[in-house]
Amino acid sequence: MKIFVSQLATETNTFAYAPTGRGGFEEYGIHFGDASTRVPESTGAFMRFLRDLIEADGNEMVESVCAFAQPLGRTVRAVYEELRDRMLADLRAALPVDAVQLMLHGAMVAEGYDDCEGDVIARVREIVGPGVPIGVELDLHCHFTELMRVSADIIIAFKEYPHIDGEDRARELYQLLKDTVARRVRPTTAVFDCKMVGLWHTTREPMMGFVKRMQAFEGRDGVLSVSLGHGFPWGDVPESGAKLWVVTDNDPAQAQAVADLLGREFWALRDATLSTTVSVDAAIDQALALPEGPAVLADVADNPGGGAPGDSTFILKRLLERGVGHAVIGAFWDLGAIQICKDAGIGAVVDLRVGGKCGPASGDPVDLRVTVRAIVNEHEQSAMGNRAPFGVGVWVEAANDVHLLLCSVRSQVFGTDAFTGLGLSLADKRLIVVKSTQHFHAEFAPIATKVIYVATPGAITPDFANIQYKARDLNYWPRVENPRAN
Ligand SMILES: [Zn+2]
Repeated sequence: MKIFVSQLATETNTFAYAPTGRGGFEEYGIHFGDASTRVPESTGAFMRFLRDLIEADGNEMVESVCAFAQPLGRTVRAVYEELRDRMLADLRAALPVDAVQLMLHGAMVAEGYDDCEGDVIARVREIVGPGVPIGVELDLHCHFTELMRVSADIIIAFKEYPHIDGEDRARELYQLLKDTVARRVRPTTAVFDCKMVGLWHTTREPMMGFVKRMQAFEGRDGVLSVSLGHGFPWGDVPESGAKLWVVTDNDPAQAQAVADLLGREFWALRDATLSTTVSVDAAIDQALALPEGPAVLADVADNPGGGAPGDSTFILKRLLERGVGHAVIGAFWDLGAIQICKDAGIGAVVDLRVGGKCGPASGDPVDLRVTVRAIVNEHEQSAMGNRAPFGVGVWVEAANDVHLLLCSVRSQVFGTDAFTGLGLSLADKRLIVVKSTQHFHAEFAPIATKVIYVATPGAITPDFANIQYKARDLNYWPRVENPRAN
């Protein structure tokens, strides 16, 4: 069996201050067919996982494009079309193939394309024809569109947020593709539109239980797979929002019945699943009231993983104004500050203007006298089993035992080694502020005395009722109390 594999992923924040260009992909490496052979220096760990899986079966993997960009605004049209067309050309050259397995994000938007994934899958379908199964894995922060549904045979989304289950879902998808090729199953998909916009953490109840509830349906009564696409709130496209879809073995009625049942169960959890955020000052108060640290404060609105700039200063400013010490905060994407630190050198004391550079969502810059403590030219961090680049990582120390991490590759904080990799200790701190919405949780919750989600202003403030949508309809919860009644 010959299986064609490609990965093209970014999550587009259509409200972001700048487009996603070629450089956004190049920071993570654009690979044309060799990503899996260049691990660990490439970002092809996922392609490597698939290659091991497929070759262990004695099957052949034809590897095409592997590209990822940190989320930002709409992808530049020529960049998207080049990556897409290279993938399609590789596919034509590889024909005949028995199956196609794609790792896409599901919320990629380009200039002229509201639904990049639907566009890719439909073009792949045109090339391979109706008889070759196409399987697609999506991030759960996807827009699940009708074009995707009718163009693919099987679409499976991650179930966990943080996304710790990408490989598990890839393995399931591969197995279902093999079963489809062998005519053991004939997948069909039905969807339930939840008409909800939000973020749902699966690290606590009731979402933890809802993940198990979805899995309990899989593998019986003809149900092959259940996915909940949470949607990406800051992608303003017509088909956004939370959707639940079910793949059955050639039983559309059963697929719809289970999708409706689970979709309504998820709807019923809407109040219980609300994540609680507190103001900056309340978060600092809570952290300081703990008998011991560190408390971990999530700056959810300045998460580059959602297309935020990563240089907002709202929490830093309050920490300084309140004289809070023994604190760590990062990562600030600030190329100018990094250059000044590099020129000054390790050990130098400099007056540094930090953050607040990208626009109103970044807040005001903060002026600080700091000591440059460490500079690492190719700093990285662990990111749920993979390595994620930070570019130049700089650790600076201000008065009062306050420490900042600066990075030249814009990224959210995933791993504790984002800080400890520069020599910074975390255990002796009162509070650690991470620019991340939820992915930090996997590594930071175990070292935290408390995790606090902070309602900062910023690019992706989780005020879902008031996002300034122009393309998607406004009949969704929590903007409307019961959108399903309308
Ligand atoms: Zn995601």
